[in-house]
Amino acid sequence: MHLIGIDVGGTNFRVGVFSGLDKLFEKRFEADFSALCRTMPDEAQALILSTLATAISEALADFPEAKGIGIGFPGFIDPQSMVIASSPNLPNLLDVDLAGPLSEKFALPVIVENDALAAAYGESFFCGISSLIYVGLGTGVGGGLVLKGAPFPGEHGVAMEIGHLIVEEGGRPCGCGNCGCLEQYASASGVSKSYQEATGRKLPAKAVAVLAAQGDEAAVSAFDRAGATMGRALAHILKVVDIPHVVIGGGLSGSWQLMEQAFRQRLEADLVPVLRGKTNVAVSKAKDSAGMLGAAQLAGNQL
Ligand SMILES: [Zn+2]
Repeated sequence: MHLIGIDVGGTNFRVGVFSGLDKLFEKRFEADFSALCRTMPDEAQALILSTLATAISEALADFPEAKGIGIGFPGFIDPQSMVIASSPNLPNLLDVDLAGPLSEKFALPVIVENDALAAAYGESFFCGISSLIYVGLGTGVGGGLVLKGAPFPGEHGVAMEIGHLIVEEGGRPCGCGNCGCLEQYASASGVSKSYQEATGRKLPAKAVAVLAAQGDEAAVSAFDRAGATMGRALAHILKVVDIPHVVIGGGLSGSWQLMEQAFRQRLEADLVPVLRGKTNVAVSKAKDSAGMLGAAQLAGNQL
């Protein structure tokens, strides 16, 4: 059975066509959703719909036999209606229904799921691990929990919104309205901010990673801070859910080795003794296909 999976990011999105684990098609589209969402909510919805519809049409032209469409979207998705209630990184987006209009247009079932939860499900499917926590380190920090083979969205689609766990009292202001959230430190933008605070220079996280690998003190410290805040947040989460597998994905996971030591130190120190040394933390094996694959499989589950 052929299924279409879409992974939406802040500045681009990717469309894949899958048959089981096999990826038959993949295409990346540039689309600045942050810019689209600076307009009025109705207009933003129309722009997002038309942008996604163009890409779906392209995939369907090659794979007209596709049976369903899954979309991973960065926001709080109502688990019943699949309406995107809001998105901390796309502030103008309110109560947007993508599933209804797209399903009508293409006469196919469409599901919408939080991007990190879709990636968690994709990773679980790819690795055959039935319970895991997925941490997506990208522009922000997303999280997803798969429990005994089922994605766990929570009552309001907010479960595992770990990027907004507060890790620094009175810390940097966040798009969610609070201060000191994990994603202000452990995301690509967080690493960039830590480096800028120390040096006055604004560099993208990728450039900070290059400097850190060369031993630059401020850059090393920016990644240490990302790792330590992650370790603190994960220790809290593991004490709540006691899941043995944690998967690190997202664009910044390519620099995981730069934050891993600080992460493990903080995690082990903060955990209760019975959990120390028992958490398997690894970089995503489905890599940047996890979100598309998970969204596609979740669509397939509805059939
Ligand atoms: Zn926040």
